[in-house]
Amino acid sequence: MIESPLLQNLTGYIGGRWTDSAGGSTFDVYNPATGEVIAKVPSMPEQDILDAVEAGKQALRLTNPYPLETRRKWLEDIRDALKDNREEIGRILCMEHGKPWKEGQGEVDYAAGFFDYCARHIQALDAHTIPEKPKDCTWTVHYRPIGVTGLIVPWNFPIGMIAKKLSAALAAGCPSVIKPASETPLTMIAFFSIMDKLGLPDGMVNLVMGKASVIGKVLCEHKDVPMLSFTGSTEVGRKLIVDTAEQVKKLSLELGGNAPYIVFDDADLDAAADNLIANKFRGGGQTCVCANRIFVHEKVADAFGEKLAERVNKMTVGDGMNDGVDIGPLVNKAGFDKVKRHLEDALAKGGKLVAGKQPDELGEGLFFPPTVVQGVDRNMACYQEETFGPLVPMALFRTEEEVIEAGNDTEFGLASYVFTADAERAQRVAAGLRFGHVGWNTGTGPTPEAPFGGMKASGIGREGGLEGLFEFVEAQTVPRGF
Ligand code: NAP
Repeated sequence: MIESPLLQNLTGYIGGRWTDSAGGSTFDVYNPATGEVIAKVPSMPEQDILDAVEAGKQALRLTNPYPLETRRKWLEDIRDALKDNREEIGRILCMEHGKPWKEGQGEVDYAAGFFDYCARHIQALDAHTIPEKPKDCTWTVHYRPIGVTGLIVPWNFPIGMIAKKLSAALAAGCPSVIKPASETPLTMIAFFSIMDKLGLPDGMVNLVMGKASVIGKVLCEHKDVPMLSFTGSTEVGRKLIVDTAEQVKKLSLELGGNAPYIVFDDADLDAAADNLIANKFRGGGQTCVCANRIFVHEKVADAFGEKLAERVNKMTVGDGMNDGVDIGPLVNKAGFDKVKRHLEDALAKGGKLVAGKQPDELGEGLFFPPTVVQGVDRNMACYQEETFGPLVPMALFRTEEEVIEAGNDTEFGLASYVFTADAERAQRVAAGLRFGHVGWNTGTGPTPEAPFGGMKASGIGREGGLEGLFEFVEAQTVPRGF
C-alpha cells in the first residue's frame, strides 16, 4: 500500500471536510508498473454526490461575490502549494499512472502554471462599462459565476487536467464538484489535502469518487449544476450532451484526438524526429495531443524512418520510479490490448515493423516498447482510431493538397503538426487543417497562456488563455437608464 503524508485521508471531501459514508464500499487503485493494489478508496453513494452539490450551492455567492482579490489569493496559494509539493505529488502520480516520476513532477509544474495564469489575468473578469449613443444609457457588463460546476477528468494527466478547469472555475467564483478518473484518484486526494490547508470557503471545492454512472447521473440531472466541464473520450462526451440537453446545461468538452504529424521534404528531419519523440512518448503515448498518424513525404520517408528508429531504440521502458526510464507502463490492460490490436492489424495489412517488437514477443505486464511501423494506410485501425500508446504509424504522401485532405480525414480536430521550412506553405496547411492546435516545426502541446481545445468531435470550448478564463462566467448586461 502506498504511504504518503498527503494520503492520510483516503476519502471524499465535501463542504470542507473529509467525508466517507460509503459504508466500506471501495474500489482498488493499482500501480500499473507492478500490478499491485496500492490503495482502496470509497465508491461514494448517490447521497454523497447530492451533498457535494449542496455544499457547493452554500459556497456560491451571487449578491455579495467573492472579491477579485480574494479569488486571486486562492489561485496564488494553490499555485504555491503545488510547487511546494511537486515531488510528492509527482511520486503519487507516477505510482498510480505509471509515467516517470520526473515527468509527473513536470506535470505538477504545468498544473501550477494554470493557477498562476488565472491569478495574473483575473482582472479581465472585472465589470466594465460601455456608453451607448444616442440613448445615453450606460451599460455595465458583469461576469457572473455560472454556478456550481461538475468537473470530470481523465487519468492521463491526473493533476494537469483538473488544474485547467479548477483555476478558471475559482477565478470565476464557481464552486465545484470534482470527479477524478477511477485509475488515478490518489493524485486528486493529495491535491485536496494541500487545498484543505489553504482556507478556501467550505464547499468551494468538493471531491467525489466512485461509479461514473452514479456521479454522472447526479451532475447531469441536478438543477443546481448549470455547467459540466469534462475531459475524456468523445463517446462519454456525447452521452453528456444527450443527458444534459433537457436542462440546456453549459458544457465544456475536451475530447479525443487523432493528430496528424506532417513532415514535408524540406523539413529539418532531425528536429522533426526529436519533436516527434518528445510529443509521441510523453505519458507513454497516452495523451490526446500526441501524433497518431505520421505523414511523411515520400522523398524523405526512408531517411526519416531511420532517424526515428535510431532514437526509439535508445529509449528505456520500465518502472517510472527508476532513474533513466523514458516510458512507463500503460495504465491498464484494456489500454495495452488496444495498442497491441493496432499493431497486429497494421502488420496483418502490410505494415512493416521498423522498431519495437512483434505482437507475440510483447510478454506479460503493461510495458509496451516504443514501436514504429511504416507503410500505414487509411484501412488500418491505427489510422482510424486514437491508439493511446507508444505506436508510431507512418504513412506516405506526395502533395500538399493530398496531405491536408488526409490530415482532415477523421472526425477529430484537436492537435496537428506540420514540419516544413516554407513559411507560406505552413500558413496554407495550418489554415486548411480543421484542428484547434497546429504546431509548425514544433510538437509542443497546450500551455497556460494560450487557448486550447478541439474542433469537430474533439470538443466544445477552450481551456487556457483568456478564452479559458472566461469559460465559467456568464456575461450579464445592466444598462442604466437614469
Ligand atoms: P473516459 O472513459 O471518457 O473517462 C473520462 C472521465 O469520465 C473519467 O473520470 C470517467 O470515470 C468519467 N466518466 C465515464 N463515464 C461517465 C459518465 N457516464 N458520466 C460521467 N463521467 C463519466 O476517458 P479516458 O479513457 O479516461 O481518457 C482518455 C480520453 O480522454 C481520450 O480519448 C483522450 O483523447 C481524451 N483526452 C482529451 C483531452 C483534451 O484536452 N481534449 C485531454 C486528455 C484526454 P471513470 O474513470 O470512473 O470511468
